[in-house]
Amino acid sequence: MSNTQSSSNFIRNIVIDDLNSGKHEKIITRFPPEPNGYLHIGHAKSIVLNFELADEFKGKTNLRFDDTNPVKEDTEYVESIKEDVNWLGFNWDNLFFASNYFDTMYEKAILLIKKGLAYVCDLTPEDIKAYRGTLTEPGKESPYRNRSVEENLSLFEKMKNGEFEDGSKVLRAKIDMSSPNINMRDPIIYRISHTKHHNTGSKWCVYPMYDFAHPLEDAIEGITHSICTLEFEDHRPLYDWVVENCEMSSTPRQIEFARLNITNTVMSKRKLKMLVDEGVVDGWDDPRMPTIAGLRRRGYTPESIRNFCREIGVAKASSTVDSQMLEHFIREDLNTKAPRAMAVINPLKLVITNYPEGQSEVLEVENNPNDETAGKRTITFSRELYIEREDFMENPPKKYYRFFPGNEVRLMGAYFVKCTDVIKDKDGNVVEIHGTYDVETKSGSGFTGRKVKSTIHWVDANNSLPCEFRLYEPLILDSESEENKHFLEQINPNSLTVTQGFIETNIKNSRGNDKFQLVRNGYFNIDPVYSDDNKLIFNRIVSLKSSFKIK
Ligand code: ATP
Ligand code: MG
Repeated sequence: MSNTQSSSNFIRNIVIDDLNSGKHEKIITRFPPEPNGYLHIGHAKSIVLNFELADEFKGKTNLRFDDTNPVKEDTEYVESIKEDVNWLGFNWDNLFFASNYFDTMYEKAILLIKKGLAYVCDLTPEDIKAYRGTLTEPGKESPYRNRSVEENLSLFEKMKNGEFEDGSKVLRAKIDMSSPNINMRDPIIYRISHTKHHNTGSKWCVYPMYDFAHPLEDAIEGITHSICTLEFEDHRPLYDWVVENCEMSSTPRQIEFARLNITNTVMSKRKLKMLVDEGVVDGWDDPRMPTIAGLRRRGYTPESIRNFCREIGVAKASSTVDSQMLEHFIREDLNTKAPRAMAVINPLKLVITNYPEGQSEVLEVENNPNDETAGKRTITFSRELYIEREDFMENPPKKYYRFFPGNEVRLMGAYFVKCTDVIKDKDGNVVEIHGTYDVETKSGSGFTGRKVKSTIHWVDANNSLPCEFRLYEPLILDSESEENKHFLEQINPNSLTVTQGFIETNIKNSRGNDKFQLVRNGYFNIDPVYSDDNKLIFNRIVSLKSSFKIK
């Protein structure tokens, strides 16, 4: 793929320095998801950064499943992550599973024990926590801290052999209980968990902790720049301690950057899983989800997501990006790519009473008024049409220029039509409107006799396809005033609106994930899951306009 990450960022500058100084001949980065959920747009930021950085400097990027915690992991997630990384447009140089390094990690733990740098501790989890101290007070040494190397070796082996229960013992690094950095106060590096692992089955009942496993994984793979999010900054001394004391032959460098947050959504697999498990959404790929699978089904393109990630850039300071910025990039991408079609989302029938019954004519309309090369398509016009319900008002306010009794508007690509009558049911609801057309005013005829203030879209009621439209709003209500509320209490009850409408027949051979600009209504994606031969379902990706301006 061509590389467009031209804008400079501080990580890129580090890489350039390391290549210029000869510290590295070639860089190797990695994207290391834990397979405990689907990827989200925050992961996309990390993916774009890692893959494009390596790409730019002719290096390599590994996809590594950081699968050291058997409890939450699943092969369904492994498969979805692979699919999503590929879909975003990236190909890894190597695919690795951290669990394949369990033997090496175990040996490295033994090395630490032999060097007097690790010990088996029998304190309860509560005591370990209490002994750890606080930011202002030093920790207290465990009474098991000075066990002999022999005793530690023997106990650790018994841990591995399954002789102890979960939580009864841990292996801890012996560093410094009075370190100002709490992460250095004898962190746990191995724990007992009698849990079947998705990859190694029941071979292991001891599993390495993230802070021990991750630096080893990076070093084993020869990663040069290990890019992670800011919350690991305080863990970096431990990362370096592990690499050094485990005598790894390569020395990766951990570099932290700010994680991506977006307004009106949540961005952690744990929370996203809750939305799925609680049935708030219809699965990980619900079009309202900020997951890659959800964005794909909503209709986002890989290009739009990559462009978004490049634009937000890489910085050390945390910030929250307006969700409208993501929308800006899909509009920009689809404006040139998406074919146009006319569809009516909330139909109201319009009968042209002076148009002969049984007659129909073919009209030519432009596919993309912004792009002459997009050509024209034909649609039909007849006596009965559908217009949007909101393009008619019986008692309009000032400055409403669409249909109301006595007013004339242009039907896009067709004629001027004047509203003459309103038909209501017995409850007073408008069920149909009538109008008359002026044959002189055909689009393209050069008619200049008089002007109308509004042009509206329509479909031919005698030649259109019924279809469903799904309109989305943000999943999470803007919550600045209620920061302490649990996110499940801030769910937007109106995040999905379903309507039944009609679309021109030109789209009849379209399939799941085909994208259109439906004139005046926005960009839409044909839902790949729920659409079938009898009915197409259109997910609205975004409306056409936003007040948001990119800097
Ligand atoms: P989550 O809290 O959503 O589970 P995580 O950081 O635990 O996120 P991992 O699967 O461990 O998820 O992450 C894989 C990579 O993606 C890591 O390098 C992590 O730093 C990065 N990443 C995760 N979330 C974001 C985010 N919001 N912005 C940028 N990078 C992220
Ligand atoms: Mg995680």
